[in-house]
Amino acid sequence: MVRKKLQKYFEYLQLSGIEDIYLKPVKAKEKIKIIQSQNIDTKQQLIDLEKKYQVCKKCNLWKGRNKFCYGNGNPNAKLMLIGEGPGADEDRTGRVFVGRAGQLLTKMLLAIKLSRDDVYIGNIVKCRPPGNRNPLPEEKKACLPYLEEQISIIKPQILLLMGKVAASTLLEMDTTLKAFREQTYYYKGIKTYVSYHPSALLRNPGWKKFAWIDLQKIQKEYNTL
Ligand code: SF4
Repeated sequence: MVRKKLQKYFEYLQLSGIEDIYLKPVKAKEKIKIIQSQNIDTKQQLIDLEKKYQVCKKCNLWKGRNKFCYGNGNPNAKLMLIGEGPGADEDRTGRVFVGRAGQLLTKMLLAIKLSRDDVYIGNIVKCRPPGNRNPLPEEKKACLPYLEEQISIIKPQILLLMGKVAASTLLEMDTTLKAFREQTYYYKGIKTYVSYHPSALLRNPGWKKFAWIDLQKIQKEYNTL
């Protein structure tokens, strides 16, 4: 509507012989106001979408769902973390990464001087797969548009894919986690890193030293933003 009106106005100007328009630069205070309203918009947009999708029945995972786990964190985060799917604690609370894996993730972020409020965390699937099994291809396919939409709204500058399920789904390739970790990717133009899922680190504490290497890479990149 606004676009059409503008187009008509520009056509009118052109017919009137006006070919150049000089726009007044936006003042710093006005810029802050624009950014603040964008921040509120992003948060509200995510809240509205979460409400809209919480009754989703696009795949069979809704049948065992107690709570839909859309994602949590800073709606304007520069760093977005993506895991696999909700576990029992998440399914109970509706919040992502709240169990033991979540506590470890909080510690990992603190180690690179970030808090949970600095980042946004989402999952490949929003409902808990039974017995914490890996989501099936049809479940990932059904749920992925929600995550893609979140990424396009939040517009992070760095993505961290935690675990092989997140990496193979978003990067559309299949290899070992070791091979995934060795490279940096661009997912829809966003710099993307792969590291361990915190649950895997709980099961294999010996891998923490490798996860620390990954975290330091991310910290270095984050500090350049
Ligand atoms: S996992 Fe995703 S697609 Fe499947 S029912 Fe839940 S929200 Fe819908």
